[in-house]
Amino acid sequence: MTPAEGGRARARVAFYAFLALLVAAPLALPEFYVTLMNFIGLAALVTLGLVLLTGIAGLMSFGQQVFVGLGAYTTAVLATRYGVSPWLGLGAGLALTALVALALGLITVRLSGHYLPLSTIAWGIALYFLFGNLEILNKHDGIQDIPAVVLAGWKIDTGRESYVLIWVATLAALLAARNLLDSRAGRAVRALRFRATMAESFGVDTARLKLVVFLYAALLAALSGWLYAHFLRFVSPGAFAVHIGIEYLFMAVVGGASQVWGAVVGASLLTLLKEWLKDILPKFFAQSGNYEVIVFGLLMLPLLHRARDGLMPLLARLGGGGSAAPAPPAPGAARALQARERPPAGVGLLDVSALGKNFGGLAAVRDLSFEMRCGEILGLIGPNGAGKSTVFNLVTGVLPADGGEVRFRGERIDALASREIARRGLARTFQHVNLVGAMSVLENVAIGAHLRGTQGTVAAMLRRERGEELRLLAEAARALERVGLAAHLADAAGSLPLGQQRLAEIARALAADPVLLLLDEPAAGLRLQEKRALAGLLRGLRAEGMSILLVEHDMDFVMGLVDRLVVMDFGEKIAEGLPAEIQQNPAVIEAYLGGIE
Ligand code: ADP
Ligand code: MG
Repeated sequence: MTPAEGGRARARVAFYAFLALLVAAPLALPEFYVTLMNFIGLAALVTLGLVLLTGIAGLMSFGQQVFVGLGAYTTAVLATRYGVSPWLGLGAGLALTALVALALGLITVRLSGHYLPLSTIAWGIALYFLFGNLEILNKHDGIQDIPAVVLAGWKIDTGRESYVLIWVATLAALLAARNLLDSRAGRAVRALRFRATMAESFGVDTARLKLVVFLYAALLAALSGWLYAHFLRFVSPGAFAVHIGIEYLFMAVVGGASQVWGAVVGASLLTLLKEWLKDILPKFFAQSGNYEVIVFGLLMLPLLHRARDGLMPLLARLGGGGSAAPAPPAPGAARALQARERPPAGVGLLDVSALGKNFGGLAAVRDLSFEMRCGEILGLIGPNGAGKSTVFNLVTGVLPADGGEVRFRGERIDALASREIARRGLARTFQHVNLVGAMSVLENVAIGAHLRGTQGTVAAMLRRERGEELRLLAEAARALERVGLAAHLADAAGSLPLGQQRLAEIARALAADPVLLLLDEPAAGLRLQEKRALAGLLRGLRAEGMSILLVEHDMDFVMGLVDRLVVMDFGEKIAEGLPAEIQQNPAVIEAYLGGIE
């Protein structure tokens, strides 16, 4: 059994053990603890949204309690004032939440740094006072006598019955989230936090995806609010105050904000802890008060200090650890993805003219022009800081150009977003390796094939995209085999040595089935043997009609491989020609040797 297979097997055992506990709990526990478990399930739903939003996508929110409130108040008002069925109340609550979240998300999700968390606090405060001041919501007194949910004649009006409803919903949400993360859309979500530029370069619309995750987290919170209202049969603004939003965030962080099951761990731990503190603290202080909040806050400090990644990773290690990366498909298990049609060799492919880019006063690229034909390997060389990587960023749309034009197959692409350029058949590697370190090598490379799939988040949650997923993973496995990493598919990408990470980057670009492959120093960090293999691979690709733009420092590697060379120095082109000509060119020799005779 490989470590990954072991990890998957242990994850399965842990899941069934958890399921057995969930089923046994209401049968064995007294009413008080069943109620507590209900609160855990309700909190886990909200926390799960935060795990996806904050822990995985990197968007911090202190405002989830607002969406809980929207879900709770909508059904409460509709049921008590207008006699509307709770099920319609659920639909209305989700719809209203979706509208509000969409509006808030459109304004705030694009904010960077601390502006996003600040804005979530702002709407948290605003909506809390709105809940407390609206006549129709009965102001601070709240709404009482909310009817029970009736499901096909079954009136759910005891704690034990609510338990079933709450935990079925929570479990479904957990499984949907797990399914999502293990999919084409999920890989893109997992790249959002630290690798957004890379994700865009392989066709992911990161702004839209962030909004989708934001919406999903809000809907989970609203669902929790609906369950809460019909379980307690009472809502008041206090349950949706600003500090409640902070508690949800605590739960996510304590549990392990990057893992789906961390939501359950965090929600359980904090709910139990709060209850316990509420019990014992008044005895110490000999009077009642919200002392638990104080102790709670203080307890958080050492915990965050000692276990940055939360408790879930610790629990996983106790259980034997091992990542549960998806299994690589068996060879030949999936029909190959459709390959792109490449233009015939010799046809004009890339046309860069008068391209310019300034960083402040520095002209990183100046009046640069060159052409590339289909089926050639063009080397772009020059001393450090000459502007080569900047040219890559301009051609692939990672940076906007300040002047000039880039045409690909005759079409102007310099004003397009990088994901649009990727769609036209350009794929690149990054000089500074741009892998998602915690994700398996196979999954990283599958991001390269993003544009060759179509299935989105909903299909992924419902596991309705397994056929396509298998083809994408098979394509990624094939690309990894080509670069010689077949033995490392299941390894975490961050655990590979740098040279192999570069090879994984090449595999990811190959998985996109590009017309033009842009490689930024692919041989850096490779051993001689690996360099030879890489040169062989690039020749093989050229023979198949691939065009390659290559930035590389190793002159032996470059000279034996490329068809032509463009030489840059201080942002400008100083020479262009065949390798033999360039080696004799005085300007090039001067640039490289710094004018030493
Ligand atoms: P090369 O890849 O040829 O080594 P680069 O394109 O990385 O060179 O950099 C060219 C010049 O532009 C360097 O002086 C570098 O410091 C500068 N530069 C590159 N990217 C940026 C950036 N994002 N902001 C400011 N300066 C930059
Ligand atoms: Mg560079």
